[in-house]
Amino acid sequence: MAACIFCKIIRGEIPSMKIFESEKTLAFLDIGPLAKGHSLIIPKFHGAKLHDVPDEHLAEIISVAKRIAVAQGVEDYNILQNNGRIAHQVVDHVHFHMIPKPNEKEGLGISWPTK
Ligand code: C5P
Repeated sequence: MAACIFCKIIRGEIPSMKIFESEKTLAFLDIGPLAKGHSLIIPKFHGAKLHDVPDEHLAEIISVAKRIAVAQGVEDYNILQNNGRIAHQVVDHVHFHMIPKPNEKEGLGISWPTK
């Protein structure tokens, strides 16, 4: 879709930090990260909401999220998809947030005493 910001990222018309790309899927770092490594995984097929996107264009999303988690070395994370305005969707191209939740101790960089 010509005016869609994520379609522009897919076409390379807007720069992004791409971290995975296949025929049907793209993942890139979120420009407003909620945590270090916060990424977005999107189908290249344009659809505003989940039901607008055929299943075959969604099939890779979770496995890509898992691959990103392995690459980032995190075991704890949130995968979120805001679907519709009431659910806080801002960009009208289906996207899944992958938000790492690093180990609290490592995240703080502190060696906690053990009992
Ligand atoms: O799920 P929702 O639509 O609310 O989130 C959109 C996300 O897209 C935001 O986290 C925002 O930071 C991100 N974004 C981006 N690059 C853009 C525009 C928005 O990473 N060029």
